[in-house]
Amino acid sequence: MSRILIVEDEVSIADLEKDYLELAGFEVEIETDGEKGLARALEGDIDLLILDLMLPSLSGFEICRQVREKKDIPIILISAKKDDIDKIRGLGLGADDYMTKPFSPSEMVARVKAHLARYERLVSSSAPVGDIIEIRGLKIDKTARRVWVNGTEKPFTTKEFDLLTFLAQNPDHVFTKDELFREIWDMESIGDIATVTVHIKKIREKIEENTSKPQYIETIWGVGYRFRR
Ligand code: CA
Repeated sequence: MSRILIVEDEVSIADLEKDYLELAGFEVEIETDGEKGLARALEGDIDLLILDLMLPSLSGFEICRQVREKKDIPIILISAKKDDIDKIRGLGLGADDYMTKPFSPSEMVARVKAHLARYERLVSSSAPVGDIIEIRGLKIDKTARRVWVNGTEKPFTTKEFDLLTFLAQNPDHVFTKDELFREIWDMESIGDIATVTVHIKKIREKIEENTSKPQYIETIWGVGYRFRR
């Protein structure tokens, strides 16, 4: 059973979220303080984090950043202000999703399920391949989430890494932009398939010697992308 940590100082909201998640079969814990929430999130047994942004003692932004540095679990940010969405995107915190208060608790439960299922898929699809993928000069360490090109490490955002890893794990398979968007972003509230194009471009700039003649991620015109083995 998956264990979910809610870090939220508004007790009535935290209790409501907890009730809905427990009805859906999850184990749920609540922390109302930022520092305590961070400490609990970093312990080994939390499978997903629901994180309010405005908290006593430590902000949700900072908690998200620190958890993402150390752990690969889904993080859903909760904000009271629509304006925060731009900030969340701009900071590149590595959150998986965000919701603005007030939100429907059943919508939240649906997103929690989707994110847990997606992480499960990423983990299980990686099992037979091992933790390191090496294709020509490209090396991907899935456990450490690091990428090297001809021996030089390149910085990757969470989504760029997920997308590259997914493609590299499924070589010679043509994926449409829709399929890739659903696989990597699925329930995220903002974005569309143009996001896939943007991320492919950024990945190519990091891994390809000549982005107009890609050696790794080929464009299949009118269809999508294929990773060359
Ligand atoms: Ca708050």
